[in-house]
Amino acid sequence: MKKVLLELVILLSIVVAIWLIFSLVLRLPENPSIISVEQESEIGKTIHKNLLTINGFSPLNNPAADSILQDLSDSLSACCPDLKFQYHFIVINSEMINAFALPGGHIAITKGLIKFCETREELLSVIAHEIGHVEKRHTVNRIVKEIGLSLLLSNDKFVGSEVARMLLSQKYNRKQEEEADRFSCLLLQEMGMEPRILATFLRKLNDSENTNLGNFEIISSHPNITKRIKNILEFKENDKKETRNNSIKGFKLDTLKKYCEKDNYSRTK
Ligand SMILES: [Zn+2]
Repeated sequence: MKKVLLELVILLSIVVAIWLIFSLVLRLPENPSIISVEQESEIGKTIHKNLLTINGFSPLNNPAADSILQDLSDSLSACCPDLKFQYHFIVINSEMINAFALPGGHIAITKGLIKFCETREELLSVIAHEIGHVEKRHTVNRIVKEIGLSLLLSNDKFVGSEVARMLLSQKYNRKQEEEADRFSCLLLQEMGMEPRILATFLRKLNDSENTNLGNFEIISSHPNITKRIKNILEFKENDKKETRNNSIKGFKLDTLKKYCEKDNYSRTK
C-alpha cells in the first residue's frame, strides 16, 4: 500500500513539474529580444547618425522645431515613466508623408507628415504607434533577423548605414501592426487623450489620394485598414490609468507646422 502511495506521489510530482514547465514556456514572449535596452540604445545612436546622411533623409535643421520636439520628449518621459526607452524625435526634410522607428527610441517624422496632420492628436497617434514598435522590440528583432546579432553589435559605421537603409523599407507583419495599434491606444490613454484617434486617422489615410503617402510605414506594411480600424474602435478603457502629467497637451502642432511650411527652414521664430 505504501509503495502504491509513493508511486502516486511521484507521478503527481511529475505531472505538476510538466505543467509548470509548460506554463512558463507559454508565458514567454513570442519574440524575446536578445539585445538589452542599453545595447539597443547605443546601436540606435549610430543608426540615427547614419540615417541622416542618406540622400533624401537630411534633417530639417530648425532649432525652434527641435526645441518643440525636445519638450515633447520630456513631457512623454514625465507622463509615461513605464516606457523602456527615452524617445527622441527628428524631423526629416522631406515632403513624403512618413514616420518610422529606429532602434533605441529614435522616431523619424517627415515634414510632409507634420503638414498632413490636422490636429496634435493625429500626429501623436502615429508617434504612439511607432513607439509601440520600439517598446515591443519589433524594430530591433527584425534587424537582428536580417543581419545577425554579431554584425549588429559590432556597431560598425558601414553596418549602421546599411541598417538605416533597411529601415526605410522595413515591413512589419500583421500581428506586429496590431500590437503597435493597441499600444497607440494605451499610450494615448495614458497621455489623457482619446485613445482611438488612430482609427480616425487611418480612415483619413485610406480615403486620401495624396501621392506622397506611398511609403507611409503605418499603412504600407499591411494595408488591411478596415480591420485595423475596427480593432482600434473596439479598444476598451477598462484598465484606465490615471494620467500622471498633462504637459503633453502643451505640444503645439500649429507652431511646429509653421516651421515646416516656410520655404526657408532656418531659424524661424
Ligand atoms: Zn507600424
